[in-house]
Amino acid sequence: MEKTIIVTGGSKGIGEGIVNLLAKENYNIVLNYNKSEEAAKRIQKEFTELGKNVEIFQADVSKREEVKKLVEFTIQKFEKIDVLVNNAGITQNKLFTEVTEEDWRYIIDNNLTSVFYMSQEVVPYMIQRQSGCIINISSIWGIVGSSCESIYSVSKAGVDGLTKALAKELGPSHIRVNSIAPGFIDTQMNQNISEEVVNEIKRETPLEKIGKPEDIAKCVKWLIEDEFTTGQVISINGGWVII
Ligand code: NAP
Repeated sequence: MEKTIIVTGGSKGIGEGIVNLLAKENYNIVLNYNKSEEAAKRIQKEFTELGKNVEIFQADVSKREEVKKLVEFTIQKFEKIDVLVNNAGITQNKLFTEVTEEDWRYIIDNNLTSVFYMSQEVVPYMIQRQSGCIINISSIWGIVGSSCESIYSVSKAGVDGLTKALAKELGPSHIRVNSIAPGFIDTQMNQNISEEVVNEIKRETPLEKIGKPEDIAKCVKWLIEDEFTTGQVISINGGWVII
């Protein structure tokens, strides 16, 4: 039976790149989206025409009730969940002194609480089958910190912390949990970054280029197929940050 995979935030950017690669591999995919319904429908149509199984489901993953519905939908459609990719996320650029309590809650809810909700709703199904793989898309900023993205950095460091703790707790149930911490990837999230800054990042990067969603998708595919990697934070950044 084919593997069933939930990709949160699969309507754009890195999530769309992950869906594109995995759908071609004949996995059953549930593409979660929040606001980008048109994009989600377009992706589903493209793959349905190719005979692939891509279902779409609208849910704001920062809300427990919506997460429950997303997971119930997946179980009704495919009976099991083999892989959870927690990709949905948002960013914010602000001086720390200007960050409000609302900003704090909004970023933490969308980037970290969402991963808690999704994992808590999915893990019982994985434990039942004594098998599973969770891949969290965190960020290089969770490791080294980013100026003017303090809450974002906190949220992603939290995701990596949860990854490591769950890897230990769920390993005996044969569930692997890993993070991918991308560097600069060319998506809408970075649309406000000037060409000058992008070129500077390219100059600072040993591989002399910025990343594409496919670069992250390839690592997701590898982590799904692997059997001995857990509790790791894998940074894919062209060598921009080497720790
Ligand atoms: P993006 O192009 O802005 O796409 C973000 C995706 O997340 C969209 O599909 C969006 O769905 C979804 N999303 C956001 N909040 C959601 C919510 N509450 N519920 C459901 N879906 C939600 O961003 P991206 O660059 O692909 O980023 C994807 C992930 O990679 C994020 O976690 C981000 O932090 C991480 N990351 C990105 C970079 C980078 O350089 N791009 C670097 C490091 C880490 P809708 O449009 O349908 O609302």
